[in-house]
Amino acid sequence: MDLSVIIPLFNEDESLPELAAWIERVVNANGYSYEVIMIDDGSTDNSWNVIESLRAQNPNIRGIKFQRNYGKSAALNEGFKAAQGDVIITMDADMQDSPDEIPELRKMIIEEGYDLVSGWKKKRYDNTLTKNIPSKLFNAAARKSSGIKLHDFNCGLKAYRKKVVKSIEVYGEMHRYIPILAKWAGFRKIGEKVVEHRARKFGVTKFGWERFVNGFLDLFSIMFVGKFGKRPMHFFGLWGSIVFFLGLVIWTYLFVAKFAFLKYNMTDRPIFYVGVISLVIGTQLFLAGFLGELISRNSAERNSYLIEEKIGL
Ligand code: UDP
Ligand code: MG
Repeated sequence: MDLSVIIPLFNEDESLPELAAWIERVVNANGYSYEVIMIDDGSTDNSWNVIESLRAQNPNIRGIKFQRNYGKSAALNEGFKAAQGDVIITMDADMQDSPDEIPELRKMIIEEGYDLVSGWKKKRYDNTLTKNIPSKLFNAAARKSSGIKLHDFNCGLKAYRKKVVKSIEVYGEMHRYIPILAKWAGFRKIGEKVVEHRARKFGVTKFGWERFVNGFLDLFSIMFVGKFGKRPMHFFGLWGSIVFFLGLVIWTYLFVAKFAFLKYNMTDRPIFYVGVISLVIGTQLFLAGFLGELISRNSAERNSYLIEEKIGL
């Protein structure tokens, strides 16, 4: 199969028929064998009925319906598991992404050898204040911390080599960071393509202002997990030692000063409290490291590595 188009959707019944027809037009013009997988993320409108009737007209359309709303990441993850195409394209259901981009994105994967190509909404049709400015900040932070040179990490329109989607797990709200997940999994050739962005035609946006708080918190966790997820002690142990050592130095100084040279009441010295707190925090960081090690030792992924090739085996 040449192509899987994955569409996560939550209450988008108005757009679906138009979107499906447009995709069908593009795909037929290029003669791809394909599937469209629509993941209904617990919609409370008519979306699932629409998907059923689209499927009745076109057997290349497949549907997955969640019991309740689990979020875009869960929907994408489920779509990735089901996808059979050599190239997987994800796009939003709200018609903000144009299916006309599909052939060029597919070409970049197949002919130019990209593992992942992310859309770049160079000209956006969203509300400037609440979306564009925070999104610039957010992308700059993601670029800086991950080292991946993308302008638009969170673009819903992306193309993947099949191997990529089978190697990553998108959980929580990590759909914003799929390029980083792919990089951690060892896929190096990550590119971008300027794509046409359109105003939302039907319905309303599903992400409010919380996206920015959550987005930044998730960026911290993904960078931490990527770097220290399997060796937490290297992080906590290092800082625990530094802080504990600082406490020890302070206390040594205070004791030596008290008994050897000066006579003073230790608790009258402000640095005494710094010393106490350093010892306590240092110990706690160490404990966090031990707990982290115990958890990562018991995790199912403790030995999950991807083998690219084998020879003579
Ligand atoms: N979406 C989803 N589950 C959710 C929220 C959103 O599947 O819990 C889908 C939504 O239906 C759309 C896509 O994710 O197809 C992008 O959402 P939206 O257009 O609201 O985001 P925006 O374009 O405003 O960033
Ligand atoms: Mg949208």
